[in-house]
Amino acid sequence: MAGIIYIIGMGPGDKDMMTAQAYDAMEHADIIVGYTVYVDLVKDIFPTKEFFTTPMRQEIERCRACYDFAIEGKNVAFICSGDAGIYGMAAPMFELLPEYVNTNSEISADNIVVIPGVTAAISGAAVLGAPINHDFCVISLSDLLTPWEVIEKRLKAAIMGDFAIVLYNPSSKKRHDYLEKAVKIMLEAGADENRACGYVENIGREGTKSVTLPLGELKTSQVNMFTTVFIGNSKSEIINGKLVTKRGYQI
Ligand code: SAH
Repeated sequence: MAGIIYIIGMGPGDKDMMTAQAYDAMEHADIIVGYTVYVDLVKDIFPTKEFFTTPMRQEIERCRACYDFAIEGKNVAFICSGDAGIYGMAAPMFELLPEYVNTNSEISADNIVVIPGVTAAISGAAVLGAPINHDFCVISLSDLLTPWEVIEKRLKAAIMGDFAIVLYNPSSKKRHDYLEKAVKIMLEAGADENRACGYVENIGREGTKSVTLPLGELKTSQVNMFTTVFIGNSKSEIINGKLVTKRGYQI
């Protein structure tokens, strides 16, 4: 009989920020599959488990490995950082599913279980204060799989809708100026230079660092790929160093 594939969001890194459901699924799995960096984070917790890792950019190979292990009868814990359904591997796993259903009668949608995790928007928000305490949206600045024009359109629309905005993948070696480009677009779309913003580096990992600052200053900030950036809405404020997007109560 084919095994179950648990697609697990393991949170930002720290064991305390993993849900009990995620922990149990990993404990019960026969094998833990993931990107090398995330597998290293859980190796200490489950030292005797079997592990399978693939490097960055081999995401689809990683998905196929999960199906192959399940067909062998193994229960698989497929781990992603944060939540597996937010820039994670849950969607490609479902995109591949029909191929396996059609060629292997033992695999069905019931073999796949998604386990939610604490995404960087939530864990980073907790570090900064309450930056997404009203309507918000999440935008990735990575144009590896999304054309830049689409990203630009979404940034403009988010400012027009006066959403608080969370930016994932704000930078990488090749895209070191993307945050600056994104901030320029938001300023042109009508956001004020003084809009309250912040960013958090290494959430739930060693070396957590958080900064609050106005949008104008964010433009020239150098952030790395382990950073999540928060842009307040037009009414957000920095209160005693904390970034707050208000609910609207009379206080
Ligand atoms: N599935 C993940 C997101 C993967 S995209 C989640 O739900 O959190 C990768 C981006 O997520 C990074 O570039 C960064 O913007 C953000 N991110 C993920 N983990 C982070 C962490 N521990 N600290 C800061 N940012 C993080």
